[in-house]
Amino acid sequence: MIDVCDIQVMKPLLASHGFHFSKAKGQNFLIAPWVPRSIAEEAGVDEGAGVLEIGPGIGPLTQQLCLRAGKVCAVEVDERLKPILKETVGAFSNLEILWQDVMKLDIPALVREKFPGLRPMACANLPYYITTPILSALLEAKCFDSVTVMVQKEVAQRIAAEPGSADYGAFSVFCQYYAQPELLFDVPAHCFLPQPKVTSAVVCLRMRRDLPWEIENEKTFFRVVRASFAMRRKKLANGLASGFPELGKTGAAEVIAAAGLDASVRGENLGIPEFARIAAEIDSRRGGMGE
Ligand code: SAM
Repeated sequence: MIDVCDIQVMKPLLASHGFHFSKAKGQNFLIAPWVPRSIAEEAGVDEGAGVLEIGPGIGPLTQQLCLRAGKVCAVEVDERLKPILKETVGAFSNLEILWQDVMKLDIPALVREKFPGLRPMACANLPYYITTPILSALLEAKCFDSVTVMVQKEVAQRIAAEPGSADYGAFSVFCQYYAQPELLFDVPAHCFLPQPKVTSAVVCLRMRRDLPWEIENEKTFFRVVRASFAMRRKKLANGLASGFPELGKTGAAEVIAAAGLDASVRGENLGIPEFARIAAEIDSRRGGMGE
């Protein structure tokens, strides 16, 4: 197997195909073999797993996934990588590569079609320019057992942040609604070519099977969450009144009281159960209509 993480191997390989990195496509390739190995190991990939990889690049993580998984389906947007991937991962019979933009995929349909009888997982060293939309699509697809991704460290910290901490925000709630995140390890900038300006980190999001909260209307719930963080430094009542103009200031204060919360509470201190109670109060005032 070609050691694509060995820079003495990688540079001539890229040069022989006249390949130049595309900044616009978020191409920072791994040059530290321990990283793709650790991602595949810590994600718990085994022969029962069907793994969706996003952005295989020249294949360091793809190799490690193919060595362990029942099947790997890798989605890559840059067709210039075709001849290189043929050399680095072409020998794996459990690999299928889709030359597409992952944002245009129907992920649940793909998972149903490609991984029958397997435990679906997603693994990726994500292109950082679209981390949030890709991660959101993977979680909203609600079809994976786990989603293990390398992202900017600061994003990983936001994903796993607890209520009351500086990193806690709407994206933390969004991720923790669908999954239980665990920060696995940091990856320094020198592990990539070209080097990114930031430190990266790997986070594993184990998807929740049954949501431990009663949330009847996800739309209202996420609207409450967005409104609660939109005016971070202000009291929750101000954020709610502005995110739900139909409530007005008085209505927002009533909702907060009816949800059993103190009038001076701030969104950054609330957990999912509290946001759920607020959403339920708002819906009950609207007769459960949702909007
Ligand atoms: N997995 C490789 C590694 O670890 O060395 C490459 C990771 S690199 C950070 C991100 C990869 O995602 C690149 O190969 C890039 O071409 C690909 N990519 C960027 N945007 C994409 C998109 N919208 N859909 C699919 N792949 C994309």
